[in-house]
Amino acid sequence: MSKAPAPGGRAASAPIMGHESEPTLFQMSVPDRSAYQLRTTGVPALELDQLVPRAHLNEVVVAIAEVSERDLVAHFTRLSHRQFSVDLGMYPLGSCTMKYNPKFCDAIANDPGLNAVHPGAPASLSQGWLEIMVTLEEKLCAITGMSAATLQPAAGAAGELTGLLLMRAFHETNGDDRRRVLIPDSAHGTNPASVTLGGYEVTTVPSNERGLVDLDALKAALGPDVAGIMLTNPNTVGLFEEEIIDIARAVHDVGGLLYYDGANLNAILGAVRPGDMGFDIVHMNLHKTFATPHGGGGPGAGPVAVAQRLVDFLPGPKATRMPDGSFDWVAPERSIGRVHGWHGNSLVLARALSYIDVHGGEGLTRVAQHAVLNANWLRHRLRAILPAAYDRVCMHECTLKATELKAKFGVRGLDVAKALLEEGFHAPTVYFPLIVEEALMFEPTETESVQTLEALAQAIERIAQRAQDDPESLHRAPQSTPVSRVDEARAARHLIATADAER
Ligand SMILES: *Cc1c(COP(=O)(O)O)cnc(C)c1O
Repeated sequence: MSKAPAPGGRAASAPIMGHESEPTLFQMSVPDRSAYQLRTTGVPALELDQLVPRAHLNEVVVAIAEVSERDLVAHFTRLSHRQFSVDLGMYPLGSCTMKYNPKFCDAIANDPGLNAVHPGAPASLSQGWLEIMVTLEEKLCAITGMSAATLQPAAGAAGELTGLLLMRAFHETNGDDRRRVLIPDSAHGTNPASVTLGGYEVTTVPSNERGLVDLDALKAALGPDVAGIMLTNPNTVGLFEEEIIDIARAVHDVGGLLYYDGANLNAILGAVRPGDMGFDIVHMNLHKTFATPHGGGGPGAGPVAVAQRLVDFLPGPKATRMPDGSFDWVAPERSIGRVHGWHGNSLVLARALSYIDVHGGEGLTRVAQHAVLNANWLRHRLRAILPAAYDRVCMHECTLKATELKAKFGVRGLDVAKALLEEGFHAPTVYFPLIVEEALMFEPTETESVQTLEALAQAIERIAQRAQDDPESLHRAPQSTPVSRVDEARAARHLIATADAER
């Protein structure tokens, strides 16, 4: 309540994407102003200590911002206009899939018949929900070629840890003391972290000059102490691991298991199944492939599906179809236990099932075909400015390099990404995977039209022209966004978590 409130006329005059900072609600607060009115019902008002015993009353008056409904709505509406989102434009964030999500799936998740059910309700009173979970499990298993799945993990990384705990339970049950898990050097950062949390050591396998796992190096790293390998296919560079059958055979030959990081299934839906490639454990990010945007700050879901020999170890209790056709909660025989307080982030699960059902089998195959077509179109269209790191047909994403812009004009991949924000596009993923210098990783997704892809390509052409004419301006980009160039390292090292701390 420190600064002078300036709520009133601001809304009309403030530009939607201005540089002015939006005051906090506390800065707009005026004593006794409120955003609600209560009408009395004739029932005599109770004193506070008639409602709450005096001993439990807080003596310190809690600061609450006092604003009118009109100012409150304007404040949040202005903030919402400063965001970039999948609903506003293209968000080509490689590896993290930010595709447009059908509003139909939101409508399903908003159904009170689903979202008003307490997760502790007995099975007899939540048969519909259990059927949704069993049906989703069956469909995810059909898509991945697996035998059974848990829907509990709350995100991709949680799914990875669950998968590694399953791997461990499997080996320990066989009296098998194994220590190492292999991971390619192109892997997502969560993979080595999950291996370490799962109690294993990481052995890194190098990629070859084609951006794929080096099979000879892999074979050299294998041994009887290897618990398994974690792979993404297509890998994080966006290329399909063509030797996957040989890789699977080599790992299985030493008694190891194959873990498929299926965070992103957009390229393979209806085309190829991890189970057929030889994988034993698969996690999926429903929030990258099945109708929930990734990274939106909301919940995700990272179900884990397994091959038959791992089914008994799955987390429980699981929604299960009983012999009489009803549904109940059943814990698998040698379950590793719970990995979530309840049954998983259920409304994300409901959205995923509605997405799968509304597309149908052929529709899902088209999702993959269009995702791959769009990525290859973009890779080809941009080749003169941003050549591909590996000049081959890619899958749902393409890894390009800004090395030429850097060599000629001193303009880095980061500058290109920041300038794209000024052009009205979200930036691609930058400096990942780590094995590609000046990497810009675009995942256009299947939801973008060829006109949008062309507009993105033209924006990049304008940026390349600026690199030639005025490279300095690119180092300062973006200028027209609500927040201009930030010092990313400083933000991480000096975290200021309060709005009005002046430090
Ligand atoms: C996004 C991603 C993950 C992690 O998923 P979260 O839901 O963010 O925990 C793991 N692996 C790959 C390849 C990813 O793209």
